[in-house]
Amino acid sequence: MANIIDGKAVSAQVKEDIRVETEKLKAQGIEIGLAVVIVGNDPASQVYVRNKEKACETVGFNSYKYALPEETTEQELLALVDKLNNDDKVDGILVQLPLPKHLDDKIIINNIRPDKDVDAFHPVNVGKIMIGDYSFLPCTPAGVMELIKSTGTEIAGKECVVIGRSNIVGKPQAMLLLHQSGTVTICHSKTKDLKAVTSRADILVAAVGRAKMITADYVKQGAVVIDVGMNRDENGKLCGDVDFESVKDKASYITPVPGGVGPMTIAMLMKNTLTAGKDHHGVK
Ligand code: NDP
Repeated sequence: MANIIDGKAVSAQVKEDIRVETEKLKAQGIEIGLAVVIVGNDPASQVYVRNKEKACETVGFNSYKYALPEETTEQELLALVDKLNNDDKVDGILVQLPLPKHLDDKIIINNIRPDKDVDAFHPVNVGKIMIGDYSFLPCTPAGVMELIKSTGTEIAGKECVVIGRSNIVGKPQAMLLLHQSGTVTICHSKTKDLKAVTSRADILVAAVGRAKMITADYVKQGAVVIDVGMNRDENGKLCGDVDFESVKDKASYITPVPGGVGPMTIAMLMKNTLTAGKDHHGVK
């Protein structure tokens, strides 16, 4: 039976470190602020936004929520982004995705000031991640890296396989593993013989979006298995991309869903917001 990586515990520690640092900044008169913008009534997005507000409260940031109606125009949303870009109380701006269909995510993200883009989605920040010279961490992949670190596993020289090549998870994940000198392979829907590739992995990260697709026969004995997936199973229950029950007896470490990668994403968002705030106030 694998060791189960406790994402809740690791994320609680990350947030506690941020809370302590935020308290010290407050004592110097410095406050950190995160603006969260949500457009429309998507229930999943509302839960994510609530969780982000709660996390701000936990670490001691000011959070400013802007809930806009579904019919908000691009011009109106860009005007709000512009206002937040120029608001000194706001260190980080997060526009909750996906936006309603009539709004273009790319146009909105590209208008957030890169030094306030705490999701690290702006092309400037994406480029910085590529060259390994970044201040903002891509939240979910950075959370995965913290979880791997918590196992004490050395990444350098290891076979690392990432399943998924999205701009939000797969690609930046591969970059972070590469920066740590892993030998990295990225798989996707056109990969031939996925099992043969994933079975080589000492570290396997699944970011596919297909419930329980990765069964034990995709996994090398003793691998570290990180499950980014957030899916619903046939009973409507939250589950990952990894078939936990079959893989847990083959992996050395495995993340559960829920309670694995999910809590880390928000913790990393808090870390980026702290970084932005310190930068804006000239704190080293
Ligand atoms: P995308 O749908 O953008 O990307 C999925 C990737 O999986 C694509 O690259 C796709 O390949 C690949 N893929 C799909 N089917 C297969 C297959 N049969 N074999 C191999 N590869 C395949 O998803 P995201 O990256 O945004 O998210 C992935 C999962 O992670 C989702 O379940 C999402 O909910 C979850 N997630 C969780 C987060 C968290 O905080 N825990 C945060 C973000 C996402 P191709 O490019 O060829 O189409």
